[in-house]
Amino acid sequence: MQDFGSRPPRQMYDVSALNIKCAECGTDVKELPFQPSTKEDGTYGKIYCRDCNRKRRGSFRDSGFGGQGGGRF
Ligand SMILES: [Zn+2]
Repeated sequence: MQDFGSRPPRQMYDVSALNIKCAECGTDVKELPFQPSTKEDGTYGKIYCRDCNRKRRGSFRDSGFGGQGGGRF
């Protein structure tokens, strides 16, 4: 399923200077599709890298089906 063709690329914000790590896998997050804002405690809250975002989004759909464990199909 690839129909990226007709869509314009989403705007990405460069956050490499902010030293944000993915809350899931700990990898450096270099860019985000949104501008992160600090919370009251001075953190950016939970930020996920692209891969984890995609995984999480994917597992939303299938929640209830084997859920926990993060196995791949
Ligand atoms: Zn991650």
